[in-house]
Amino acid sequence: MPSDFSIDADWNALHIDGEWTASESGDTLAVEDPSTRETVVDVPAGTNADVDAAYEAAADAQEEWAETPPAHRQAVVQQFLQALDAHSEEIVDLLAHEVGGSPLMGETSIQIASDHASEAATLPRRMKGEHADSNIPGKENLVQREPKGVVTVISPWNFPLNLSMRAVAPAIAAGNSVVLKPSTNSPITGGLLFAKLFEETDLPDGVINVVTGKGSDIGDRVAGHPESDVVSFTGSTSVGQHVAGLAGENLAIPAMELGGNNAFVVTDDADLDRAIDAATFGSFVHQGQVCISINRHVVHEDVYDEYVERLTERAEALQTGSAHDEDTVIAPIIDESQRDQMLEFVEETVDAGATLETGGGTVQMEGVEDSLLVEPTVLSDVTNDMSAACNEHFGPIAPVIPFSDVDEAVEIANDTEYGLSGAVHAGDLEVAKDIADRMETGNVHINDQPINDEAHVPFSGTGDSGMGTYNSDAFLHEVTETKWISIQHDHRDYPI
Ligand code: NAD
Repeated sequence: MPSDFSIDADWNALHIDGEWTASESGDTLAVEDPSTRETVVDVPAGTNADVDAAYEAAADAQEEWAETPPAHRQAVVQQFLQALDAHSEEIVDLLAHEVGGSPLMGETSIQIASDHASEAATLPRRMKGEHADSNIPGKENLVQREPKGVVTVISPWNFPLNLSMRAVAPAIAAGNSVVLKPSTNSPITGGLLFAKLFEETDLPDGVINVVTGKGSDIGDRVAGHPESDVVSFTGSTSVGQHVAGLAGENLAIPAMELGGNNAFVVTDDADLDRAIDAATFGSFVHQGQVCISINRHVVHEDVYDEYVERLTERAEALQTGSAHDEDTVIAPIIDESQRDQMLEFVEETVDAGATLETGGGTVQMEGVEDSLLVEPTVLSDVTNDMSAACNEHFGPIAPVIPFSDVDEAVEIANDTEYGLSGAVHAGDLEVAKDIADRMETGNVHINDQPINDEAHVPFSGTGDSGMGTYNSDAFLHEVTETKWISIQHDHRDYPI
């Protein structure tokens, strides 16, 4: 008998109102393991009727859940955290099968997801209102903080566990119910797994509902559902714009975390040992499929040649292979369309005059006909308008762009419609802080790389990278609303 949390378990059911149910159509979607290219599991292809049933259950369950004492809601989130911990090894394995997550990616996902659940567990007791004096004699003002109601969570495939977690756990902790729609590439670790873990807690039926299915089939119904009060979306900018429109029509709050094109700026006096370590991690971890990974290296011309040479050496030394191998750092890309798109960006960049220092192709894998494993790639002599630089390549690709002074570095870094994350390496901290201040992004990290997420620190994007803020109190405000109640204690004199 396979464990309930293994890839061989039965995952062919939606979770609605505390029940595991087949999709209304009976249709299924196959999930392919990127390392083997074999179908490893089938999940339900949900329909609009399934979506409606999920929202009905969520709306019915929410009020009673909101009325439970804070200590109880906190205890449920803590039980969930214990379940996550107890099944962490199986979840790392699920991530390897579903999204080609290397052991490092799997363990990092667990650590960040646990951080988000731990922070969420503090919210019920911190969800406080205000008392305000009144300008009107004899009046008292109370401001209560209340859950919004039903929170929709739509998540991407790249870090499904922690990106679903950062919305699901705080939304539930704050007394909302949830309808979760994961990506078709990660229906388990971004979706069904959450229902299974919550089964090990005292969460009432209907507070978490999971509907799997194609965005093109059920996405609009999910994003624009009249029962939805908040739409928490993480994904691409183009889909996000569409989803925010549907949420807006329905006057649901859109909390959108979208694409990025993150710059990593290295000045002439930077500590190159530290910069190269950070650059290697920031460009290549999870084969670059991270919204906050380094999309462009912007490097001072005086250290440019040495930087390119050392980054190339490090890229060539990275262990490529199956996500199921212990030593693998660079595992396969999620699917053919993503792989082909990033290789096209590389080809176009070379055609436009850049130099391919290493990589640029795929690595053959034994027994796999059409490998999804992309070589770690370094491109030099890149300008900001070349394909690998101006697009979110989402791959193990490091385009390196030279600059001659700080103003030019800032101009290059900001020459993108996105504004998600970034990093600066400089010997002089004052200069680093000045560059960080001038970079138009939601997050910038000095003498580090751009991939950082701490559940107690606000996380947001500017420009085409999104609207709304995640984490801790900032996200608590997205999923709750204030209600002003005034009490007129004494007789009030009205002018008429
Ligand atoms: P995507 O936009 O293709 O899909 C995201 C989700 O939207 C999936 O669940 C998908 O099924 C769903 N969807 C598709 N069409 C829909 C529709 N019409 N209505 C409602 N939902 C629909 O993104 P992806 O390829 O899964 O993820 C990669 C993208 O996500 C990258 O652009 C990356 O930068 C971004 N991302 C951003 C952050 C962040 O925090 N800003 C984090 C991770 C990923």
